[in-house]
Amino acid sequence: MNNALRGARQLPIKACIDLTFNRTVHLFRKYNNVAMNCNTPLPSCMWRLFRKRETHAQSHILTEFNYNEGVYRIVTKLQINGKGGNAQTVHYYQQTCTCGKWQMEMFPCSHAIAVCSYRGDNPLSIVNTVYTTMTYRQQYTSSFLPLSHVDYWLESDWKIKADDLKLSVFYV
Ligand SMILES: [Zn+2]
Repeated sequence: MNNALRGARQLPIKACIDLTFNRTVHLFRKYNNVAMNCNTPLPSCMWRLFRKRETHAQSHILTEFNYNEGVYRIVTKLQINGKGGNAQTVHYYQQTCTCGKWQMEMFPCSHAIAVCSYRGDNPLSIVNTVYTTMTYRQQYTSSFLPLSHVDYWLESDWKIKADDLKLSVFYV
């Protein structure tokens, strides 16, 4: 949005409204096109992240603590550079992991994906709907109509009124 509205500052108010309105219409047209042509279950950026975590999940060592309650301990693979070997606890039904990513991003970490695959569930099923291509498309399906000529505007039955209490502080 910041990129779309760049240059809208310090313009007369009507020019500012026209510019922000037209840029927003353009932005929605552009992303509507991108979203409609997206053929992956998640938009490209999230799909890349998901695939990366899914690959990473394959090298985790998983211990099941409680199937019914969905409690698992995950140990990441020890790497040559000394990284890895970290232990995390996943509470599958609460959608939490001690790494913090799952609950914070509402997007599964590699530990959660490892648990999901182990349980035979589809890892895409634990991705919050805010990240899906379907939601992405819905966001950009709204349409705008050009503003009609001022002669066709209806007379408003209300007026903008300043809050005198807030204005009075300037007179002190
Ligand atoms: Zn995690």
